[in-house]
Amino acid sequence: MQHVLVTGGAGYIGSHACKALAARGFVPVSFDNLSTGWTQAVKYGPLVRADLLERAAIDAALAEYRPVAIMHFAASSLVGEAMQNPGKYWRNNVLGALNLIEAALAADCRALVFSSTCAVYGEQDGVVLAEDSPLQPLNAYGSTKRAIEEMLRDFGHSDGLRSVIFRYFNVAGSDPEAEIGECHRPETHLIPLMLQAICGERDELVIHGQDYPTHDGTCIRDYVHVVDLVEAHVQGLEWLIEGKEGRVFNLGTGAGFSVREVIDHARAATGRKVPFRLGPRRQGDAASLVSGSQRALRELGWHPRRSSLKLMIQDAWRWHQKGGYDS
Ligand code: NAD
Repeated sequence: MQHVLVTGGAGYIGSHACKALAARGFVPVSFDNLSTGWTQAVKYGPLVRADLLERAAIDAALAEYRPVAIMHFAASSLVGEAMQNPGKYWRNNVLGALNLIEAALAADCRALVFSSTCAVYGEQDGVVLAEDSPLQPLNAYGSTKRAIEEMLRDFGHSDGLRSVIFRYFNVAGSDPEAEIGECHRPETHLIPLMLQAICGERDELVIHGQDYPTHDGTCIRDYVHVVDLVEAHVQGLEWLIEGKEGRVFNLGTGAGFSVREVIDHARAATGRKVPFRLGPRRQGDAASLVSGSQRALRELGWHPRRSSLKLMIQDAWRWHQKGGYDS
């Protein structure tokens, strides 16, 4: 059995990746400090509870499991927090990644799939973003992800590290069997916030900004189903195992929805009203982020099958109604 080290395997996307890897015959080994993850989300392979800032712990996990590759999801990823406390982001994301890369090379593991983000693009006047669009992040979260991308390229040149870099747009939905789901702490993602407001678990959803240069004044985002997203990761892993060269891929659908449009879809999908109020803009948010994902479709053969807004909300709703994780 081939092992894959999954950093952040107890988190939202990492746990879905573990499920997809296990379904494909790999053994996912979650490496997670549980700072924002959940032990209950680790169902498909062992958990190494440890921190990427401890190099010896990474060395030990690599020596024990000898993975064929690494999927690196672990990061701090709150835009607002990154604006207030950039040091935390440079330390956890960039130093964590550097430790991981150096440990991987020392263990002769030279294939890595990396979670990057559309936040590396920053604001680009509403154009559809392709992989070769300029990188001009608006916040420290995006800056750290851009730095890690550069680090991966540098170690590719110096040490033959091969990496597939995925720049995700907004990830949403839950596994359709509702075994695992989206549960951030604190929650800042639109769809789970909406579902909490619908259920009365929070007073209301706050719409951050209504004066953006978009058709209804609210931010536009491109939503991709987590199940489709992790399927691309397994394809990226197989790409590396086949010996292909590193590559960057956007993962989105190419369709942008405003916050107000997502609220309308949620009302239709759940049959419930979404209580909301209008609030000020959130520092560091771009008006519109929409993906050009032709490269992933063409080169990886990626077929996002569940990424309609309706299915994403229905799957998230099913998970939410099951009650989420016990804290
Ligand atoms: P998450 O917070 O649910 O998962 C991150 C996991 O990493 C958590 O389980 C946390 O405990 C772990 N972790 C953090 N720092 C660690 C460290 N130093 N050592 C060990 N474990 C550590 O977040 P998520 O939404 O699943 O995001 C996963 C990745 O995807 C992140 O890198 C994020 O930047 C990226 N991403 C997410 C989205 C999205 O819409 N959710 C969009 C773009 C990019």
